[in-house]
Amino acid sequence: MIRPEIRDRVEATPFVDTHEHLLEEKTRLAGPGAHGLQPCVDAALLFYHYAKDDLWSAGMSAEEQERFYSPRVDPSDKWSIVAPYWQRSRHTGYLRAVAESARHLYGVEEIDSASFVRISAAMRDQAKPGFYRTIIQQGARVEVCQVNSLEATFCETQYPDLLQQDLSLVPFSTGLSRETIATFGARSGLSTATLDDWHRVIDWAFATYGPRADAVKSQAAYHRRLDYAAVSAEDAAPLYTRLVRGEDLTGVERKALEDHLMRYCVSRAGDAGLPVKLHCGYYAGVDRMPLDRVRRNAADLCPLLADFPGVTFVLMHIGYPYQDEFIALAKHYQNVVVDLCWAWIINPAAGVRFVKEFLMAAPSSKLLTFGGDYGTVENVVGHAAIARQGLAQALSELVDEGWLTERGALDLIEPLMRGNAHALFPTFRAPRLVAS
Ligand SMILES: [Zn+2]
Repeated sequence: MIRPEIRDRVEATPFVDTHEHLLEEKTRLAGPGAHGLQPCVDAALLFYHYAKDDLWSAGMSAEEQERFYSPRVDPSDKWSIVAPYWQRSRHTGYLRAVAESARHLYGVEEIDSASFVRISAAMRDQAKPGFYRTIIQQGARVEVCQVNSLEATFCETQYPDLLQQDLSLVPFSTGLSRETIATFGARSGLSTATLDDWHRVIDWAFATYGPRADAVKSQAAYHRRLDYAAVSAEDAAPLYTRLVRGEDLTGVERKALEDHLMRYCVSRAGDAGLPVKLHCGYYAGVDRMPLDRVRRNAADLCPLLADFPGVTFVLMHIGYPYQDEFIALAKHYQNVVVDLCWAWIINPAAGVRFVKEFLMAAPSSKLLTFGGDYGTVENVVGHAAIARQGLAQALSELVDEGWLTERGALDLIEPLMRGNAHALFPTFRAPRLVAS
């Protein structure tokens, strides 16, 4: 049972949301197809990011998905397409987040054919300039979001006070290609012929975007292991030169070059005072996750954590489903923080267990408790509601089981929901805000 005092305090406290992929508001207002995460803008959009994966897992076909997410199918014809799969998967965190968004934003207690049409109309009416701030701050009760943009390496956002931005490391390191080299060579006006040159381009990126960034981010775990070996510039330089010339690198050579560049970026992040956010654990999408690689994430990271004691690493998504190992990392390494972003909707029950076990094993100052991880702003509301329920339940259970006093639990709420993020991210320190 959730204790009323704890529930009320959690409800009244705003989250700092440490991870989103929110499209820019102007992208949303540009309508269907303006971005890959936005095939339509009716109520089916609420079922797109993440919910789509559970609907697929429940058996929805590609043809049904195409019709359901089509901007050309009328919302009144859409519910019958999704209804059987909704019935099978509505209890999962992904689908629950949809239902909670509909409930909080539109007063819909049960999504059905009629309310699906009503929600579609309400979404259309609501989508006006400025509506992001209303949904984020009033709907989700989030004071500020940190966005890992899928539209730009560093997004020059319309709303920098509301949507703080990560600087992506991917194009400079593990995603290096002749295209990224050409792009950032042109953007920086610098030469890119040698590895030394590319180091200077990375330095330029940190100088240009770093003062306005909340952190740097890499989702390289979707493509490779996180065992970044210490590869010297001498060893990496000829590999870079060959890549620039268009020669093929072997897998081993490619990894060595990526390892060197990732460590170079991590070192620059340390110089810039920027935390390094790393995707860990579960994969978005369907039918492709290599668990053998995912389960090595925590162990693979240890050399990097040990070699950069001055850099703060934010390990994302609790490394689900291997979250115990991430508690061990946060407990053991002073420079490790763990973020529950996305985790509350991957598996809400695991989120509750994680918070309880983390607080009994590792310092509470090293836990971040919310990131919606969505491209669609309305979904943040439902996810935040689930996160509040889970956090209140975890703290209540710790009190009921005699591990915390109620006073102790209440005192943890502000730091867990916002204070830890304020202490950790440079964007909350005033002098850097004026740098923009
Ligand atoms: Zn994400």
